[in-house]
Amino acid sequence: MHILFGGTFDPVHDGHLAMIDGLINAFPDALVHVIPNRHPPHRMTEASSEHRLAMLETVLGKYSKVILDQVELDLQGPSYSVKTLEFFRSIHGEKEPLVLGLGADAAEGFGEWHQPQQVLELAHVCVLDRAGQTAQLPNVMGALIETGDLGMLAQFPSGYLVRLKTPIFSVSSTEVRKRIREGNPELLVPEKIKHYISQHSLYRTH
Ligand code: ATP
Repeated sequence: MHILFGGTFDPVHDGHLAMIDGLINAFPDALVHVIPNRHPPHRMTEASSEHRLAMLETVLGKYSKVILDQVELDLQGPSYSVKTLEFFRSIHGEKEPLVLGLGADAAEGFGEWHQPQQVLELAHVCVLDRAGQTAQLPNVMGALIETGDLGMLAQFPSGYLVRLKTPIFSVSSTEVRKRIREGNPELLVPEKIKHYISQHSLYRTH
């Protein structure tokens, strides 16, 4: 089983790491692919792909079941999950269970994604609720079978929906960038990331 957890990670923060921990604990036999977007369709990132990748590398090395996956940085054009999932299917075959890990806000906006229906044909969905919220899922996800039995996901390639509760981390990359601009030292990122950001003077001027 392969779990895909994509994002801009601009920068990676404590909330992302809590999600990754949640996915590893819920699916101990799976590989979790952390996939930084190359060029988000909805917005520009503020740090280069190289910096975002380097920051992820500094914090993900300790996880044996996590792969920092450059697939979207290597593919041409904007990053779309449907393209990434088709790529995973071509590598792992029709029968392999694939799971798209989504934070609550990403799950709520999923209906606006590129070809959402095709995405759901390619993978299960695991929604990780953020800061005590319960995500209101878009209608398109009504086609999925919701289950509390995580084991079902290992038996089928796609088609199921599960929700996980992760510890509450009220943080976003937007908030981290804002705090840097304001000179607030409480960044809600690991020490190594704080150090990297200051060493490379990131996020000071946007
Ligand atoms: P930004 O503030 O720049 O929009 P972000 O903090 O939401 O960024 P992304 O890289 O866009 O981070 O998100 C990657 C994934 O992590 C998304 O699925 C998002 O919902 C989820 N996520 C981000 N922050 C948290 C958090 N604090 N708790 C749980 N999930 C989160």
